Amino acid sequence: MSKFDFQRGEDFAMAADSRDPLRTYRDRFLFPKIAGGDCLYLCGHSLGLQPKTVASYIEQELKDWAELGVEGHFHAKHPWMPYHRLLAEQTAKLVGAKPIEVVVMNSLTVNLHLMMVSFYRPTPQRYKIVIERGAFPSDQYAVQSQIRFHGFDPATALIEVTPLPGESCLREEEIDLLIKQSGDEIALILLGGVNYATGQAFDMQRITRSGHARGCIVAFDLAHAAGNLPLSLHDWGPDFAAWCSYKYLNGGPGCIAGCFVHERHARAWDLPRFAGWWGHNERSRFEMGPSFQPMPGAEGWQLSNPPIVSLASLRASMDIFHEVGMERLRAKSISLTAYLEFLLDQNASSKFSISTPREQGRRGAQLSIRIAQKGRALCQRLTEKGIIGDWREPDTYRVAPVPLYNSYLEVFRFAQHFLAALEH
Ligand SMILES: *Cc1c(COP(=O)(O)O)cnc(C)c1O
Repeated sequence: MSKFDFQRGEDFAMAADSRDPLRTYRDRFLFPKIAGGDCLYLCGHSLGLQPKTVASYIEQELKDWAELGVEGHFHAKHPWMPYHRLLAEQTAKLVGAKPIEVVVMNSLTVNLHLMMVSFYRPTPQRYKIVIERGAFPSDQYAVQSQIRFHGFDPATALIEVTPLPGESCLREEEIDLLIKQSGDEIALILLGGVNYATGQAFDMQRITRSGHARGCIVAFDLAHAAGNLPLSLHDWGPDFAAWCSYKYLNGGPGCIAGCFVHERHARAWDLPRFAGWWGHNERSRFEMGPSFQPMPGAEGWQLSNPPIVSLASLRASMDIFHEVGMERLRAKSISLTAYLEFLLDQNASSKFSISTPREQGRRGAQLSIRIAQKGRALCQRLTEKGIIGDWREPDTYRVAPVPLYNSYLEVFRFAQHFLAALEH
């Protein structure tokens, strides 16, 4: 459906829903009730909704724990010892990687640190880290602390790429230029695949190429990209990537996170890394020997035996992703977000503007709406009506129509409520 086929009326939304090949998937999710009423949930970029199957996946593990105790490690219906591997293939598919390149473990910021232990290895000549200005705070804290940990000063070692004056998004050519000019001082480029604030999607292949051409390690934080955009990490070639699974991936609050290490590092035994028994060669893991032999690939970065209940929750969600496929999700997502953009543009006003890129190829599901005045109060009023988006100081309201469970009618209603609240 092209942008130009959209129509303003509610009947268009209903017709679009009836034609939507993914329309039945929303029945597989639990929608929150606000003040006892239905809510309009456009916040899957912050916390995805709960698949109805999560409870039964978790119950299976509780039952096996109750009935088998420690024997569950090997004799549960899905034995816990290799349980994380049940997710390897689907995770690899989701991010366009080989199974050996991915693992689910820890949480996102922890994984960023573990990856930087191995891949941020500053020297007096090459010690800088590049991130986006206004990167997610946890990423800022993580890189600053890594820089200090190595005895450098963030004031000189941290480069924050900044949009041109008057623009809200970064231009890839600016990033290229920076890499060209300062590449031999840059140890690590760590950008969000999709920026959490603006919703801008970066050309990861291009950035990886530019960075590698100058000898930099290139990595992506995919918190807002995983489950939102089709990814081809193996072919694009970044050195590592990490993401959380509770946003578009619907794994549940604080759910176990994902990590990618490119195959070229799968047997890089000489890389420094923090070790734990779950990263040790599984054939001799239970011999409990004193010397660490990492498993090849991303699994070799595991530390602990993972939280099975969290993995079970993630499996419930990943089974749905696997069934639908990112291609179909992306096709609907492009249309659904363009429809929201269309409805907002129909009522263009100086009271708000869209700061997300207008080109489909430069964004995912999210639109960031900058509100000229009293945006926080507006957001609050919408929340009281059961319309759930996300407010970011100083002026941005972020909403994401999620193709897996949001409908055209919801987008239509959101636009109506939002525009009415603006006039309030
Ligand atoms: C959501 C998000 C985080 C959150 O980190 P956790 O370790 O999962 O708490 C970090 N970075 C980015 C870019 C995010 O979007």
